[in-house]
Amino acid sequence: MRQAPNGFLAAMVDALGPDGVVTDSDVMAPHLVDWMRRYHGDAIAVLRPADTEDVVRAMRVCHRFGVAVVAQGGNTGLVGGSVGTPGSVVLSTSRLNHLGPVDEEASQITVGAGATLDAVHVTAAHAGLRFPVDLAARGSATIGGMVATNAGGLSVLRFGPMRAQIGGIEAVLADGSVISHLQGLIKDNTGYDLVGLLCGSEGTLAVITAVRLRLVPLDGPHLTLAVGVERLSAALTLLRNVRAAGVVVDSAELIRRRGVELVAAHVGKTPPTALLAPFTLLLAVVAGETVHDRLATALETLKPGELIDSLVAETEASARELWAWRERHTESISAHGIPVKLDVSLPISRLAEFEAGIDALVDRAHPGCDVHVFGHLGDGNLHVNVLGVDGSGGADWTRVEDTILRRVVELGGSISAEHGIGRMKAPWLHLNRSPAELSAMRAIKRALDPTAILNPGVILGVEAVEP
Ligand SMILES: Cc1cc2nc3c(=O)[nH]c(=O)nc-3n(C[C@H](O)[C@H](O)[C@H](O)COP(=O)(O)OP(=O)(O)OC[C@H]3O[C@@H](n4cnc5c(N)ncnc54)[C@H](O)[C@@H]3O)c2cc1C
Repeated sequence: MRQAPNGFLAAMVDALGPDGVVTDSDVMAPHLVDWMRRYHGDAIAVLRPADTEDVVRAMRVCHRFGVAVVAQGGNTGLVGGSVGTPGSVVLSTSRLNHLGPVDEEASQITVGAGATLDAVHVTAAHAGLRFPVDLAARGSATIGGMVATNAGGLSVLRFGPMRAQIGGIEAVLADGSVISHLQGLIKDNTGYDLVGLLCGSEGTLAVITAVRLRLVPLDGPHLTLAVGVERLSAALTLLRNVRAAGVVVDSAELIRRRGVELVAAHVGKTPPTALLAPFTLLLAVVAGETVHDRLATALETLKPGELIDSLVAETEASARELWAWRERHTESISAHGIPVKLDVSLPISRLAEFEAGIDALVDRAHPGCDVHVFGHLGDGNLHVNVLGVDGSGGADWTRVEDTILRRVVELGGSISAEHGIGRMKAPWLHLNRSPAELSAMRAIKRALDPTAILNPGVILGVEAVEP
């Protein structure tokens, strides 16, 4: 472990008080390994600021001593961006977790960066409103982390990602200055969009301390159905036809039989037969009088032999059970080891082609692997998980990642749909971004963080300046 610069810890305790600075290695340990257990970090201390003023004081000290700062929310990120690096501090937002009140007139709420997604859902629902981003890590993922990664999740198709839900942000820059724009005005064309810039910045430009979120009306019951089909292209056709029939689709997720079998083994349950088709399209749609007829009409448009089985969840409990088959993919895969985990997006027209070739592609790069593909079908977003590659992060690992990411780009896709770049994908950012774009990004980074203390190595691979 790299030592703290002389006087740094004393200055930090002065700034945050003893409760705000953790150096006990047992307490620090969970902050220094990522959710996948792939990235093992290191840090001088874990900081636990209680409010924005604490964050300001902490950033001033770090700036003065040249100590790198890794902001951390729920530590559920999947690209290795949230664990400390040698000589850094992890700044945990766990105490910045204030909620609301809900501004019912504006349908907005201001929350601390450390508020969990779950807590925001519950608070919004009490006011008869809904925060429309949802993802399986909802119990731990924080709003700050979700803004920093521009998280997507289950309802992007209908409501867009985090970026579309933000009415304003308060954040602390590397030198301790605060940019605060939390009014939540619907129209506000006053120069550069700093809020938009921080969304997706993965802790490299500022520490987000509070966020103004837009809420939407609760729209009554949803109907969940699973449709098992022979080919991925049939799932896409069905989704298109369901939407064309006027059904409001909240989520449209794809799972494959192989993934369902893995979940079944992990949770010790037998899946319904509709989920044992080669592909299952899971849909959550807004219920209504005519919805069953509209869905039936859409199902009839499938060619003979394409539809294998379908199942409608009749109760809320059975709907939750159906969704669990999708949501428990990530943990079921992780139970078998550390996977090569890639989150990519493709033009809808190339999705089926990509999926059809993925097993052979991976097999050529590293024979004998177990490839799991699932994801947010309506967004063209597939999660590709490869189990059975030895030596996390080694040469074989990199070859598999490189092969898949280059294929994605060849088909016109993005190497990161919603998880971000982090440390994991920094070496491949140039596949999606031109030299001019990369140099504009570096210029922004230099302007806001001239000594490169904010999350070094993430996104652009910029190294921290030695103290
Ligand atoms: C089971 C599971 C399911 C998931 N499903 C989805 C999904 O459907 N869609 C999706 O998009 N993601 C998904 N994720 C990934 C993850 O939940 C998201 O990336 C989430 O946004 C991370 O939030 P967090 O609070 O855990 O952030 P962390 O993991 O703590 O941090 C993530 C990044 O954000 C930065 N950061 C955190 N807080 C701040 C802050 N306050 N200010 C500045 N930077 C900050 C960190 O430095 C890091 O670079 C899933 C993860 C798991 C484990």
